[in-house]
Amino acid sequence: MSTLFLRTLREDPADAEVPSHKLLVRGGYVRRAAPGVYSWLPLGKIVLENVARVVREEMDAMGGQELLLPALLPKEYYEATGRWEEYGDTLFRLKDRKGADYLLGPTHEEVFTLLVKGEYSSYKDFPVILYQIQEKFRDEARPRAGVLRGREFHMKDSYSFDIDDAGLQESYDKHRAAYIRIFDRLGLEYVIVAATSGAMGGSASEEFLAVAHTGEDTFVRSTGSDYAANVEAVTTPEPPALSIEGLPEAKVHHTPDTATIRTLVDLLNELDLGRDFTEADTLKNVLVKTRAPGSEEWELLAVGLPGDREVDFKRLEAALEPAEVALLDDADFAANPFLAKGYIGPRALLDNKVRYLVDPRVVTGTAWVTGADRPDHHVLDLVAGRDFTPDGVIDVADVRDGDPSPDGRGTLYTARGIEIGHIFQLGRKYTDAFQVDALGPDGKPKRITMGSYGIGVSRVVASVVEQSHDDKGIVWPREIAPADVHVIGTGKGAQIEEALRVAGELESRGLRVLVDDRKGVSPGVKFTDAELLGVPTAVIIGRGLADGVVELRDRATGEREEVALDAIVDRAV
Ligand code: ATP
Ligand code: MG
Ligand code: MG
Ligand code: MG
Repeated sequence: MSTLFLRTLREDPADAEVPSHKLLVRGGYVRRAAPGVYSWLPLGKIVLENVARVVREEMDAMGGQELLLPALLPKEYYEATGRWEEYGDTLFRLKDRKGADYLLGPTHEEVFTLLVKGEYSSYKDFPVILYQIQEKFRDEARPRAGVLRGREFHMKDSYSFDIDDAGLQESYDKHRAAYIRIFDRLGLEYVIVAATSGAMGGSASEEFLAVAHTGEDTFVRSTGSDYAANVEAVTTPEPPALSIEGLPEAKVHHTPDTATIRTLVDLLNELDLGRDFTEADTLKNVLVKTRAPGSEEWELLAVGLPGDREVDFKRLEAALEPAEVALLDDADFAANPFLAKGYIGPRALLDNKVRYLVDPRVVTGTAWVTGADRPDHHVLDLVAGRDFTPDGVIDVADVRDGDPSPDGRGTLYTARGIEIGHIFQLGRKYTDAFQVDALGPDGKPKRITMGSYGIGVSRVVASVVEQSHDDKGIVWPREIAPADVHVIGTGKGAQIEEALRVAGELESRGLRVLVDDRKGVSPGVKFTDAELLGVPTAVIIGRGLADGVVELRDRATGEREEVALDAIVDRAV
């Protein structure tokens, strides 16, 4: 520590609200470079790499192959899938010197899909699972809590490619099992919750939430079983009866009979949007407005649309009754307070009781609200018949507490969590967009089906701290701690010499050691730093050295024990 690039802080940073943010900054693990952008200093880098190592080991063990793709990506890839537009303000866009558009990758489905398309062509090539651990870039509306929600952050992202649905299920199950091993090894308390598929079509998707009251996600748990679900995904046995008349400001025109996806698919095909839709397509709701010929009055309309490039508003306009269809504009946003010009997530729904004008029976999944002069969009996560009380006010948390569990065992209560992992059966959205086929055994092309799976590696570091700290500092689980043992020499001479010797011996026994060999720093400061830094075991070589005695401290329990100097190495191993 006499040469380590580390300066601890006694005061909490002014912008920090949650423990992990305060402690990671105070402990000199990270330093803020810009909003949501952090530098990892030497000890922080070690912890981050330790998390990455655990992830890597389990990904490799289940057959994943690691590679590294660029973060700087050409617009064309994301344009092909519609995500250049769909991502809205979250995407970091830039131009090269020739004026060509680029982006910094927020997630890499497109690039992996194209890579596999380029290399593989036969059914014999599949299945394959590819992953990387890499910086991701998202211009989050509310970067917060240090590295918990960064604008640049580290993610493990993997992608599975299979020949058929059964294969996809197998790849998904492998990931699920690997994630359980990873988060168990990291010592996290977590729940696996059913997530919204984020779109109509109902593909399987689950989130891993680290339990923490500082988390942004609300989930429900049952008192009587291990049922757990994200609030957006809870299936209540009987949706409340809702009538369109009951909704305030219900100037609503809803899509003709879209109670089922099938109907919606039929509708889309009737609209003749330029291609055929199937139930496997990712469908989203777009808010548009319509008016009858000659009428002054616009009405809002939610239409299920595919979340890809093929949407042709001109054709939609031509096909819909009444005749005129347009995107919402500034005046609409001004007139409707519920259409806030910012990200509207489940959190906002909870806190602000956002009102939504569309008949909830026709809205499921993610609604994209688009402004006319603004290619960006706002997202509402909704579930039909549940996220609405009969007066049209969304009040998820109040409705859920004490509700009977959907599995009939116990009642539901709400809790908070941090999304640390997300596994998702994508199906053929991307392979359709890029026409990725493999030649089957019968000589016919077969469309590949995909899954995508993320772990927030840097977010995990903060999540561990959220769950494992006390008022003095961090308490690292050994697996990811910056060192196994913190050897502290007090005084100026003999104790420090001895600390360095003991540290050397522990290292030769395979332990990772942090040694406090600073001269002219008081024992009190050294102990305070050690507690803040949170290495699991401390060996203190102080005054007792003259009598051949040193102290062993356990960071988690606070237990202290005097140990003979010649026994300390064996005890600390
Ligand atoms: P969130 O709901 O928290 O915004 P997400 O659903 O947008 O996350 P995914 O697209 O599922 O995130 O990305 C995979 C994983 O990457 C997430 O489960 C999370 O652990 C991590 N992650 C996502 N956004 C961030 C961020 N801004 N900072 C740190 N980690 C993040
Ligand atoms: Mg997000
Ligand atoms: Mg999420
Ligand atoms: Mg997610």
